[in-house]
Amino acid sequence: MLKQFVPSDFCLKCQGCCRFARNPGIWAPAGCRLVRKNGEYICANLREDNHCEAYSCHPLDCQLYPFLLVRHGNSLRLGLHRACSFITEHRPQGTALKGYIDYLKERLQTDDIILALQNNPEIAADYRQDVEIIADVSDLLNAGEFGLRQLTIEDKPLVESYLQKNKTNVSSYHFAGIFIWSGLYKIFWTIIQDNLCIFYSDAIGMFMPIPPLGVPPGEETILRCFELMNSRNQNNEISRIENVSETDLKYYEQSGFKAKLKDKEYLCLRDAIAKLSGEAFKHKRASYNHFKKNYKAQVLKYNDSLCQDCLSLYRLWMKERKGKFSDSIYQQMLEDSFVSFETALKFYEKLDLIGYAVKIDGKIRACSFGYALNEETFCVLFEVCDLECKGAAQFIFSEFCQKLSGYKYTNIMGTSDLKNLEKLKLSYRPAEEVALHAIYQ
Ligand code: SF4
Ligand code: SF4
Repeated sequence: MLKQFVPSDFCLKCQGCCRFARNPGIWAPAGCRLVRKNGEYICANLREDNHCEAYSCHPLDCQLYPFLLVRHGNSLRLGLHRACSFITEHRPQGTALKGYIDYLKERLQTDDIILALQNNPEIAADYRQDVEIIADVSDLLNAGEFGLRQLTIEDKPLVESYLQKNKTNVSSYHFAGIFIWSGLYKIFWTIIQDNLCIFYSDAIGMFMPIPPLGVPPGEETILRCFELMNSRNQNNEISRIENVSETDLKYYEQSGFKAKLKDKEYLCLRDAIAKLSGEAFKHKRASYNHFKKNYKAQVLKYNDSLCQDCLSLYRLWMKERKGKFSDSIYQQMLEDSFVSFETALKFYEKLDLIGYAVKIDGKIRACSFGYALNEETFCVLFEVCDLECKGAAQFIFSEFCQKLSGYKYTNIMGTSDLKNLEKLKLSYRPAEEVALHAIYQ
């Protein structure tokens, strides 16, 4: 049952609901029998004393009212019926109204409501008169058709149970690697034939950031994923499955899907970065030593009290990087990455992230964050520093690797096809490259 917005004592004195001018009509609740009486149609559940005979299990549209699900074509919106006597009299606004709308938006995503909508699609109708549109809930349409659910932090155990079946050194095979992009994309999941399928959706369209997780996906699963994405995308070229590694390509190529090399991630030997010894690292070592000699730095394990300082540092670092590299793709990448950085810090503990910050004279001048992909590989997700502080980048990376003893590899992520990033990553002498493909229909 939904919490009611209008107090019941107000409704009991009002005659605005449960009586309808037309039958059939869009205002009558789903599944209710209407009885003709005094020129109007009255719900058979309405008692003489104005109580609802079926109150403990009355239909979803009755529970929602004066809120409505308004369907116009492919969109689904939450509306408020301004003609309701309570709304007309009290004109609710501000936090009380917003709080209830937030509550409704969250409740609409839950299983019982999704099921009720699937069983009674007429609950969502083309309401127009006196209806104020207050929120877009079009995602519920996907839920109905493909069982899509919006990914929340609470879904972490479920996603992890599937990730365990797919051991890999690819950075996106971690709940944090998927979830940190929730500020840029709406993230959905569904189960198709024992595979957990995850989708990113934005104004451009929908794609899968990683292949279906679980058992190796069969052709039917992959086809169903493309069917879902194609139903959302105006251009089917947007529909794709990203981050497919070389070893998994066979499942797709056997079924005639097209693969395109999109990126590669680099795996460094953690111990080599921790030590920075030998000819190969002499420049990095010199920078590290310069930093040690010239700055009195403290290396701190990250905690929430450092959040604002780390965000400010990111902004400074982004400004410095943007000033140095004019490539518009790189500049957009920095902006997007900031959104994911904010999400990562907000959910730091819940995402099992590990982070360190370098403090000099009371100021955070470098920080780095990552997560364990498996017992062999740790992934460094973010590394930002004040570029004025010579050697800070080499220092924090090496220090971080020193603290990660036990891991063989440090994944330093991909380059997004950007030459400046490729040059930087290769300068750490990666031991392995992992080629990543995107799959198209
Ligand atoms: S019109 Fe509004 S106030 Fe009147 S019974 Fe319906 S919900 Fe209650
Ligand atoms: S089910 Fe109850 S609340 Fe809904 S229209 Fe009928 S009497 Fe009114």
